[in-house]
Amino acid sequence: MKPGLPVSDTLYGAMMERNPRFDGILYVGIVSTGIVCYPSCRSRLPRRHNIRVFTSMRAALEAGFRPCKRCRPDSPAGQPPDAELVRKAETFIRDNFSAPMTLDSMARALNVSPYHLQRVFKRATLQSPAQRLREIRLMKARELLAEGRATVGEVAARAGFHSPSYFAARFQEAFGMTPSAFREKED
Ligand SMILES: [Zn+2]
Repeated sequence: MKPGLPVSDTLYGAMMERNPRFDGILYVGIVSTGIVCYPSCRSRLPRRHNIRVFTSMRAALEAGFRPCKRCRPDSPAGQPPDAELVRKAETFIRDNFSAPMTLDSMARALNVSPYHLQRVFKRATLQSPAQRLREIRLMKARELLAEGRATVGEVAARAGFHSPSYFAARFQEAFGMTPSAFREKED
């Protein structure tokens, strides 16, 4: 048996969901492949009994695991400088806001871990990437509503909101009126 701790229900649950909340805190060594990953790694979920948990990357390496090439748990040095990452993330969000987007998909596109993206972006902008995405979508929606040509449903879709009712609620929250009320005011 290799060193490291067995996986807890909570951690295994996060791994199943590809949830990044333990990334950078816990490292999962996979005995069958000899690879160590961030818990949110997109690679195929390992069988539970094959997982050994480490609290540092160094401990995993000392136990003989090799870092995963996909989630790259070993390479803060290989990651772009923070300012560059923030700029790239902002550009990516602006270019793609109308498409479905999650923290995971942004991180994949930017070739960093979701944990790293969330932390660096928030430290620099005081907003999470998801908050920034929503803000850009709302600004775009307001612009489209002011132009006055598309229906509220079309505006929601073009701004990247998959549900008109969710869009209406977020719009009201941000601007203090419903999209329809805003449109009437602009007319
Ligand atoms: Zn991995």
